[in-house]
Amino acid sequence: MNLNGINSVQPSLVFKTKEAEKPAENQQVQTTSAEPKKSSDAGCLKNYFAGSVNFGGHHCKTSNFEVKKLPDVPCCCCGKPMLRENDLQECKKAVAGAKGEHLAATIDEYSKYMRADEKCAATIIADKVKETGGDVGQGMRATSQNLRELTGQYANGILDGLDKMAKEAFKEDENPMSSVIAKAREGIAQGRGLDRSTFVEQLEKAGGRLGEEAQAKIQDAAMDLPQTFNHVQRIYDKYAGKKNEEIARRLFSTALTTAEHIHPHSLGGPDNTANYIAECAGCNNPRGNMDYAEWLKVHPEYPRKAQEHVEHVEARLINGEIGKDYNDWPIDVRASLSKESGGRMVLKVLNPSTIENMRRERGLSGKDVTVEDVRAAYEKQEAEKAENK
Ligand SMILES: [Zn+2]
Repeated sequence: MNLNGINSVQPSLVFKTKEAEKPAENQQVQTTSAEPKKSSDAGCLKNYFAGSVNFGGHHCKTSNFEVKKLPDVPCCCCGKPMLRENDLQECKKAVAGAKGEHLAATIDEYSKYMRADEKCAATIIADKVKETGGDVGQGMRATSQNLRELTGQYANGILDGLDKMAKEAFKEDENPMSSVIAKAREGIAQGRGLDRSTFVEQLEKAGGRLGEEAQAKIQDAAMDLPQTFNHVQRIYDKYAGKKNEEIARRLFSTALTTAEHIHPHSLGGPDNTANYIAECAGCNNPRGNMDYAEWLKVHPEYPRKAQEHVEHVEARLINGEIGKDYNDWPIDVRASLSKESGGRMVLKVLNPSTIENMRRERGLSGKDVTVEDVRAAYEKQEAEKAENK
């Protein structure tokens, strides 16, 4: 797909313009904040970290968090690409205005922006309109009578894929994951539906002797299952009678980029970049005040996806798509996540000086930095640290 605005940012231009505007001596200045630090925020974070963290960051309203303004950033929690409001409008228009096979193709094309429950609902609608030629509202109403059965078919399709992956990973038909999958199928056949959190936990236990990479691949595929059948039902209950535009918007609204307070705002977490990570609305809203031990049961992929998210942001930071005052953000967010998760999540991040150096080098070479480059830079940074000891 090619959304207007997405992939059209030209980092080299943005970067060079910003550099050119600044007098040479200003480039020596360490970090400048977009907004002045608020002493109340700093104090709050200091208490929270009990002095154990070298606190950086700057006061910032959630609406001004710069990472939120970038197109196609993967969510730090589920890893799926997120949408800004304008991108969401485009997705909505495309789906609301299409019919029949064209609608099915549009849903398929944009499905990477849908979270699991929405993707399930949209796929059920797409399969229907392929036959009947209707629009999104007609497709929804035509499938509402046997939604549970159709959700079961959709989930079974994902279970088929998981079964195949498990057989390949274990290199045998009879493997510990197969019985977990068979039990899930039984539950669906008997009308009990499926609870994704429990299923993924059992699947992970059964896959114990597999390598990390094979486990991750299977986990990602399993996270495409709807959270529960009721989650899909609730979308239908609320939207089956609504206009096409409203239904289409609902299918994408959970992909909207939000700034997540790592330490919840309601528990005293400040409006500060050191306390923010960009997360889709689908992951952010249900978390509320839930602590990370609980939340990691709902989203076990979070630690892995947060690492990928930070590497992605680092690459875009080096490419000049975010202001220099975010050079400290990776180390700040590592500290915040580590503290909030009780040490269960410790990210590998680039130091501000490494980011700054790479930014300069890149300015000379004019070549975009990729996530692979970021990983290589991290290895180099760690090797240099070990050498200096
Ligand atoms: Zn997410």
